[in-house]
Amino acid sequence: MLRLSTLALLACTTPVLAQEINVYSHRQPELIQPLVDAFTAETGVKVNVAFVDKGMAERLVAEGDRSPADLVLTVDIARLLQIVEADVLQPVQSEVLETNIPAELRDPNDLWFGLTARARIIYAAKDRVQPGEITTYEDLASEKWRGRICSRSGLHDYNVALLGAIITHHDEAYATTWAEGLKANLARKPDGGDRDQVKAIAAGECDIAIGNTYYMGQMIADPEQVPAAESVNILFPTFEAGGTHLNISGVAMTKSAPNKENALKFMEWLASDAAQKIYAETNHEYPVKPGVERSALVASWGEFTADTTPLADIAAQRPAAVKIMETVNFDG
Ligand code: FE
Repeated sequence: MLRLSTLALLACTTPVLAQEINVYSHRQPELIQPLVDAFTAETGVKVNVAFVDKGMAERLVAEGDRSPADLVLTVDIARLLQIVEADVLQPVQSEVLETNIPAELRDPNDLWFGLTARARIIYAAKDRVQPGEITTYEDLASEKWRGRICSRSGLHDYNVALLGAIITHHDEAYATTWAEGLKANLARKPDGGDRDQVKAIAAGECDIAIGNTYYMGQMIADPEQVPAAESVNILFPTFEAGGTHLNISGVAMTKSAPNKENALKFMEWLASDAAQKIYAETNHEYPVKPGVERSALVASWGEFTADTTPLADIAAQRPAAVKIMETVNFDG
């Protein structure tokens, strides 16, 4: 009898609608879990995360109105734009998001919002490159670096975005010459990811490489990769008439979101001080919300001036940038 009345009591106090939301995440589960746990502890809203490695846009299109997904979490402006182009998102108006996220790191049409930033910087051999020897992205194409640069594929999203930013700062003709110059400076054919370029510097194959900041945090956390990480300095180049190139990880709400209200709550929470701090510590990314502290390691890399070109403008150059990479046969 006691058990029955306890159940009856529970039934009365449990809300009729389940307080949960569904997130499709391209981001690693171990990165997202601390955020999800903290949000659930604070709000009682359960967050179901499905890790979607590939084909996010295709999956959302295939599921259509029946998709259980409320939110999408992914990295890189290119992937966010693929989802925008698939027409499966809805705009989100939120004062919190507008206040906490700088305008250049969110969509002017409110379809996507940057949650963390990563700078695309230069790793330079400590013993072969002096600080100050290279200060701009434009310089990467200078003859001075002939045979001294390592890079991952020119067609990788990160490098396509960087080239898109070069186009935005100059024009397509300049960007083509730049990509040709950079290719001519490569010590080897593009291969591997950003961390592999650091390892190539450590092995003496090249002196500088282009990479994202957080990879250095990941390498330092892995004893096997520490020696390679310690063989390089991080230099923050700028565009000749601008700052350091940033990309983002971001969030967007699906058009069919079944749990819109709680999904918005989670979006806003991800832009809060608490969540921004977790992002900073867990993956050594830059918080987008002004005033939130960087991790101690990231802070040790020093200050830089972020480029303020809107990411939406850079993303608009993506087709042109891909074409240039193909024209100059960057990976060939
Ligand atoms: Fe990455």
